[in-house]
Amino acid sequence: MRVYLVAVERPGSRRWHVSLDPSLRADVLYHAQRRAAVRLWRSARPYPLGTALAEVRRLNRDGRRPFRAWRPEREPVVVPADGGKIGSDPFLDKLSGEAPGAEENRVISGGHADAADKPADLAGRLTEAMAGRSLLAEEFESLVQSLGLGGAGGDWRFLAQWGILSGWFTLRPSVEVAGRRGRPLPRKRALCLRCGADERWMRYTACASCGETCPYCERCLTMGRARACTPLIAGAAKPSGVAGTVPERFVCDGGPATGNAVVAESDTAMAGPSGGTASATGERDAVADALSAVPGLALNPVQEEAAREALRFVLSSRPSQSGGEVRSFLIWAVTGAGKTEMIFPLIAAVRARGGRVAVATPRKDVVLELVPRISAAFPEEKVAGLYGGAGRKWPTGGIIVSTTHQLIRHEAAFDLVVLDEVDAFPFHGDPMLAHAARKALKPGAAFVMLSATPPRDMQRDVRRGRLPCATVPVRHHRHPLPVPACERPAKLAALLIRTLERGAQAFVFVPRIAMLEPELARLRKALDGVCPPGRIEATSSRDPMREDKVRRLRAGDIRILLTTTILERGVTIPKADVYVLEADHRLFDAAALVQMAGRAGRSAEDPEGRVAFLAVRLTREQRRAIREIRRMNKLARQKGWLAKSGDSGRRGNRPAPESRPSRFFGFISGRASGQQAGSGAGDRSANRKGWRAWRD
Ligand SMILES: [Zn+2]
Ligand SMILES: [Zn+2]
Repeated sequence: MRVYLVAVERPGSRRWHVSLDPSLRADVLYHAQRRAAVRLWRSARPYPLGTALAEVRRLNRDGRRPFRAWRPEREPVVVPADGGKIGSDPFLDKLSGEAPGAEENRVISGGHADAADKPADLAGRLTEAMAGRSLLAEEFESLVQSLGLGGAGGDWRFLAQWGILSGWFTLRPSVEVAGRRGRPLPRKRALCLRCGADERWMRYTACASCGETCPYCERCLTMGRARACTPLIAGAAKPSGVAGTVPERFVCDGGPATGNAVVAESDTAMAGPSGGTASATGERDAVADALSAVPGLALNPVQEEAAREALRFVLSSRPSQSGGEVRSFLIWAVTGAGKTEMIFPLIAAVRARGGRVAVATPRKDVVLELVPRISAAFPEEKVAGLYGGAGRKWPTGGIIVSTTHQLIRHEAAFDLVVLDEVDAFPFHGDPMLAHAARKALKPGAAFVMLSATPPRDMQRDVRRGRLPCATVPVRHHRHPLPVPACERPAKLAALLIRTLERGAQAFVFVPRIAMLEPELARLRKALDGVCPPGRIEATSSRDPMREDKVRRLRAGDIRILLTTTILERGVTIPKADVYVLEADHRLFDAAALVQMAGRAGRSAEDPEGRVAFLAVRLTREQRRAIREIRRMNKLARQKGWLAKSGDSGRRGNRPAPESRPSRFFGFISGRASGQQAGSGAGDRSANRKGWRAWRD
């Protein structure tokens, strides 16, 4: 968009700013209300936002030499010292529109969903809704409308400008372009201030909004178009610190935040009752308090120890506005360890200090599942779920449960971000989402990652002591993880019959969607007379009936489900076996194999589900997966955390004699794909060694 430059002239001084409000009404009112005698000069024409902001910076730095294009309009707007008639605008009444006397003990409520909860004044509602948010202009407009403020005193441009002048919001271009004006550089350098993308992601097109050639960011395009001329409006995370006309009304009641007090996050509040230099006793107390804060939460000793370690980490972080590195912590918990319960004490600890928490997960269905669980654990809290397709609503609360993508609309907002399944698509390997997660944290705040299969670079950091980590090597029922057996592909039907005979259900994973139909037909035929064809189904990301089939699987109606890795996480069936077809496929890395294996033996009733990798060869990734599972079982056994002695999970899963390595090795060098690192002839001895380690 194009915006006007405004020169604010006082006797002896001149300052420039950009006004989003073309009528200058916000600017005039703001100065009138402050009883400031000023003359406002508006530029004769509007400029693209990015250019205008750069010029304002330059003008304010060196005010004596306005740039050549600065052509103010002939007449200034004069604001007299007494504010004049301008000062009695209906908007100003709405700004602090509340009966006097109702202001004592006010707590700004955690949302706008409830009319009774709303702060009646416009300033409170706007700053609260914008707290920690960073929005494109169109998103800000939508937020203003959702608050019902559209008609409260002007359009979004007016409200944005008022907020910027009042110091509630900051204004930046969504994409910042470095380079001298008027001199086309051979290489421009543009940076997306929203997702952190650099020049490589920029597309320069003729822009209808500003009328010039204007870059937009392609990386975060799915979240709305960030252009060099699109305003990026960020709300202060800490309304108690905002400058402006009505600061006192943002002061909360100060005590430990219960209920809906979401804006108590001042630095002092975060320091907690124990003060800035928390003594060891104070910290111990805080840990104990947090562990007992959630009624009905029953952690087993393993979960509790991990939660304790993570709590000590979270409690030692000191978010501030002034700076400091984001600090990370990893909870490395095997599949089925009950990691959601482990984060409840962390949430309790941060909320007790008045901080805000975001729980982010890569998948929308997990958001939908977590919101009621967290709401039930924290009945006093307002828990907001954010995900794509939730409609143009802007819920807010002390606890946000969000898809990782939605974090991009936040900035310096949270004292704790818990990131679930840090290794999962789309988070892993997407620098945009990593940037979003870090940007959403206040400086110095705590970043807690959860994973059953951390990426290798993260594991390395843990080993080298660069990343503090709590390991939970045992499931909530404290039985060992089922160790995968290696079988020939031809054995699938026989294995499935065994599964059906023991009354279990089966996941059959395949690497490619194209395999599903032929495998389904084959299995239905092979199991004819054992299992009705309607109880064997296949599903994938392209299946419109997927949700229905998952429901039927949960209900026990489907006995055998063929699927791709879309179901490697999330769906839990109490009594299930897992078979991975083409386990040697290059798409199946160790993490995916561990996740798939993790679908078996989840419940206390059937903790010893069976897992088999069906392939003609044993790849490095399969060996890694098996080694990883064994390592966790060993760790659990050493710590004495297993429910009973002996590796009972291994029984029945021992590789059958016919699957011994000699038969496989003939295939290894010949069929190894190029993408398999280190595959080929030189890998053979390593294979043999790995195999021995696996077998023994
Ligand atoms: Zn971007
Ligand atoms: Zn533009």
